[in-house]
Amino acid sequence: MSHWSLVIGPSSLVRGPVWVLSCLVLLLAVLPAAAVERFRPPDFTEHKLPETTTPEPPAPFWDYVDLGYLAVALGLATHLALVRRSRRGLLALSVISLAWLGFRRDGCICPIGAIQNVAEAVANPNYVMPFSVVAFFALPILVALFFGRTFCAAVCPLGAVQELVAVRPLRTPRWLDHCLGLLPYVYLGAAVVFATTGTGEDRAPYVICKYDPFVGFFRLSASATMLALGLGFLVLGLFVGRPYCRYLCPYGAILKLCSRVSKRHVRIPPEECIKCKLCEDACPYGAILEPTVEQSPRERLRGRRRLAILLAVFPLVVAVGAVLGHFTGVALSRVHPQAALAELVAKDDPGDVQADIDKIEAFRNTRRPPEELYAKARALHEQFAYAGAWLGGWIGLVVGVKLVHLSVRRRRDEYQPDRGNCVSCGRCFWYCPEEQVRAGLITVAQPPSAVQASSRAEPTSDASNTAEGGCATK
Ligand code: SF4
Ligand code: SF4
Repeated sequence: MSHWSLVIGPSSLVRGPVWVLSCLVLLLAVLPAAAVERFRPPDFTEHKLPETTTPEPPAPFWDYVDLGYLAVALGLATHLALVRRSRRGLLALSVISLAWLGFRRDGCICPIGAIQNVAEAVANPNYVMPFSVVAFFALPILVALFFGRTFCAAVCPLGAVQELVAVRPLRTPRWLDHCLGLLPYVYLGAAVVFATTGTGEDRAPYVICKYDPFVGFFRLSASATMLALGLGFLVLGLFVGRPYCRYLCPYGAILKLCSRVSKRHVRIPPEECIKCKLCEDACPYGAILEPTVEQSPRERLRGRRRLAILLAVFPLVVAVGAVLGHFTGVALSRVHPQAALAELVAKDDPGDVQADIDKIEAFRNTRRPPEELYAKARALHEQFAYAGAWLGGWIGLVVGVKLVHLSVRRRRDEYQPDRGNCVSCGRCFWYCPEEQVRAGLITVAQPPSAVQASSRAEPTSDASNTAEGGCATK
């Protein structure tokens, strides 16, 4: 027996594989270490991210189809309102606009929401606004500057849905109409503040879009609260003509200002007004102005004094508004998602609201230090205090201008649409006997005395709604 045969005995037959296994384990343990050596971790301290250019996404085809529809519909609505004076045509176009821009295209893009994109683009140079959104915002304004609010007459889906449900509109008391008529300007100011302070960042919806009462119907999906709000507006709209348009719509506020200085506008009589008063109560939107009566010298003097006082306190109203607005900064900032989240995390007491619990959980999972979030919230409070001062000043300005506007008397010799409030719906056309002469339904417009005897048997609002089914026969 050789020396080797002694070493490789029965026990060494077991020990051999153990050695091989041990070597393999050692090798596996060493390999990662070798790999670490070969690929040293990168050092990011001096690294600068390279400038990258992201190509613009292709323009969405349907946005341009919508834009084409908007341009054609605006032209058609203007023609129907100012040239053809066709209420029936305007109603038909309203139905088509509601179907296309509302239900088919989900109420988006819409010029009302585009206000916020424009505001954000002005405040933030890095924000790029698609051309279609700019055009959607600007086209109805341009048309309003030349021809009045024909966009509201038959193109806007929100206006259309309210126009169609206004079957028994009642007259809102003047004082209430004036007070509520300030709200669209306040809403406009608030929407601009929220858009310029980045409330729409992190894909959070802009406020106008979030609280659009009708978009839930268009998309056939919305929270219960928003559906109830939309339903409320529709039910209210049965008795109060276009409540959202008159008392909330911020785009309507812009169109109102443009329409006031429009080059042309719808007229109630096609030719000369014979002051028969038949149209006096025809407008469910309180947009018909009566001819003015001559004032006594004493009344004129009183009016001038009132105007002088108002002009004197005007700057004070604006200043008080700005100061009060400054103190609303913290409250306003809660609309910003980051400030709201900071408050939730700081309290860490979301109650039973699952959404709040989820938000806190999601924040924790990011492993961001809460202090960073609080610092952001503090910065937002300051930003909103500044923006709140602007908003308060804006509200003061709106109130001041309204009071001055009400105090200035303008002479009128005939019944005229109020260029700001009139939405060019054409309901009043058929109340005018001159219009019926134009349409060839009667041969002579009755003189005022004859008309007044029969006029109190007023045409119903149903008649005004069906318009060309109208009130006169040949
Ligand atoms: S006022 Fe506003 S909601 Fe109403 S029709 Fe005009 S843009 Fe549309
Ligand atoms: S067109 Fe006539 S009824 Fe319609 S809003 Fe103007 S004034 Fe009122």
